[in-house]
Amino acid sequence: MKKTALLLFSGGLDSILAAEILRKEKIKVALVCCKSFFFDCQSAQRSARRLKLKLKVIALSKEHLGTVKRPKYGRGQGMNPCIDCHILMIKKAKEILEREKLDFLATGEVLGERPFSQNRKIFQLAEKETELESLILRPLSAKLLPLTIPEKRRWVKRENLFGFQGKSRKPQMVLAKKMKLKKFPTPAGGCILTDPEYSKRLRELFKKAPECDGNDCQILRKGRIFWLATQSFGRVRQNRFLIIVGRNEKENKQIHQLAGKKKKDLILEPQNFPGPTVLIRGFGKEIKKEKVLEATALLLNYSKKIPEKIIIEVKK
Ligand code: SF4
Repeated sequence: MKKTALLLFSGGLDSILAAEILRKEKIKVALVCCKSFFFDCQSAQRSARRLKLKLKVIALSKEHLGTVKRPKYGRGQGMNPCIDCHILMIKKAKEILEREKLDFLATGEVLGERPFSQNRKIFQLAEKETELESLILRPLSAKLLPLTIPEKRRWVKRENLFGFQGKSRKPQMVLAKKMKLKKFPTPAGGCILTDPEYSKRLRELFKKAPECDGNDCQILRKGRIFWLATQSFGRVRQNRFLIIVGRNEKENKQIHQLAGKKKKDLILEPQNFPGPTVLIRGFGKEIKKEKVLEATALLLNYSKKIPEKIIIEVKK
């Protein structure tokens, strides 16, 4: 009977190749993609459609946010906790594997492509933490890795798998050409946690408002960010007021959409002159008049053609 692999699928070239290699080995392939506050499955959905394969989407959200705040195995160059994140994805995929009685898990990982999270030690660690020893097949680098159950049992032939290693994507491009794959996305950029500017914003948010949630993390993607300082007897206290100033029409709209019903948010909107939407978000404290005035100053700073008498709507 045909065996079924559950493939962790990002929609990028590596995972597309992994799917095609498995199909050539007469393995039935089911795809799974994870989404969170920091990345989505759009690329995976597009690629899955092209491959005519079904894709399951797992929402990691809260669990993933906990991992981003307190990673057990550290972070990459940005706020990306790739090792913890990957282990979490495999754990979630394992639940599907067991529930649907599928035969093994596969990934498009390439040994050494990302030195921090794709090396032998980390592959072993992920298998140990998820109790999936010998059950995760990495078709692109399998020849360089210990034998897995699918190979031992000849569900797939090891000689038909690959021994790719390192950051160069040339071997994958050659293989894609051989497989006549024409359309595939350029290497990622899908996870905002690797973005230096966003990482800086997020680091500050975690420091100032450790209780922050997914909405706070998402709203940080928009606009210019300011944290208001609170003066107290000459000392500058840890401030807890986040101000977001929209940089264009699109961001102004997105700020409105993300302004939370459950949040202590105030929105400032210029009524008789062109200017940005400004959001004040209070963490733990009520937003007092002085904060509204400070936010108004920022609004005016980024506005044009300010009339003598200004009208600004303040709404919750
Ligand atoms: S780049 Fe982002 S999505 Fe990918 S493993 Fe790292 S944290 Fe997770």
